[in-house]
Amino acid sequence: MLLRVLGSAAGGGSPQWNCTCPVCAAVRSRAGLARTQSSVAVSADRRRWFLINASPDVRTQIEAFPGLHPHDDRTTPLEAVLLTDAELDHTLGLLLLREARALRLYATPAVRKTLSADGSGILSTLERYCPVEWRAVIPGDELALADGLSCRAFDVPSSKRARFEAGLEHGRVVGYRLTDERSGGTLVYLPGVQSLTPALRVEIEDSECLLIDGTCWRDDELVRLGLAGRTSREMGHLPIEGQDGSLAQLPSLRVGRTIFVHMNNTNPILLEDAPERRILDEKGMEVAMDGLEVQV
Ligand SMILES: [Zn+2]
Ligand SMILES: [Zn+2]
Repeated sequence: MLLRVLGSAAGGGSPQWNCTCPVCAAVRSRAGLARTQSSVAVSADRRRWFLINASPDVRTQIEAFPGLHPHDDRTTPLEAVLLTDAELDHTLGLLLLREARALRLYATPAVRKTLSADGSGILSTLERYCPVEWRAVIPGDELALADGLSCRAFDVPSSKRARFEAGLEHGRVVGYRLTDERSGGTLVYLPGVQSLTPALRVEIEDSECLLIDGTCWRDDELVRLGLAGRTSREMGHLPIEGQDGSLAQLPSLRVGRTIFVHMNNTNPILLEDAPERRILDEKGMEVAMDGLEVQV
């Protein structure tokens, strides 16, 4: 299986259009450091691709990746979109795919409800433009995708509620464990995680590669910068640094590669020469860039 990181930044991208924090300023001043918003594409055979989350940058992301370019008859290698939650930075791109002849969408009933007219309305709007075939994602159930590629969603407990939450509790946020039946390779995509509970650890362990929430370096990163009143954890994201941060917890997990994704524009690890980046290097942990490919 091949996974390609289409976008490695959290909502707003890096730099964020209205931000002049030190990291955004540095990213603006150097070439080649900008990142688009969080999404990955996965394929068993490089012919049929599945997106996990559809970011507001999806059009640029598809253009930047020849693997997703259309065929002569206007069909495309894009098979379906899988969603981890109903946040706008993971779902707005669905509206930009409205020219599709039809779209297959994998989401939990809770996420689907939040995207309906009762919630953000993204799904009901999209359905006015193209037929959407919804496949229910049930945490714990193995789903066959294509060509020996399968996935299993798992619940990610979070106290953060999407702005348009429609009320359903179970399945509001999920992560995906992807398996290539032929190679036996497994990979976990977890762009939003508030706390590494024992149940989550079980889902993550023994994967060859973990792509995990790297939103904030410090828990109070946005508070210190005067950009928000809430901590990283309060926004549903486990910080990297600190006693209970992911940096302290991840080394005890049995995983092959650990790659941070979904970095907020304020996170110093976006800069290759930041001291925080050296700390990750020393632990053998990686930071995703748009275009990074992982083969398992
Ligand atoms: Zn996000
Ligand atoms: Zn910024």
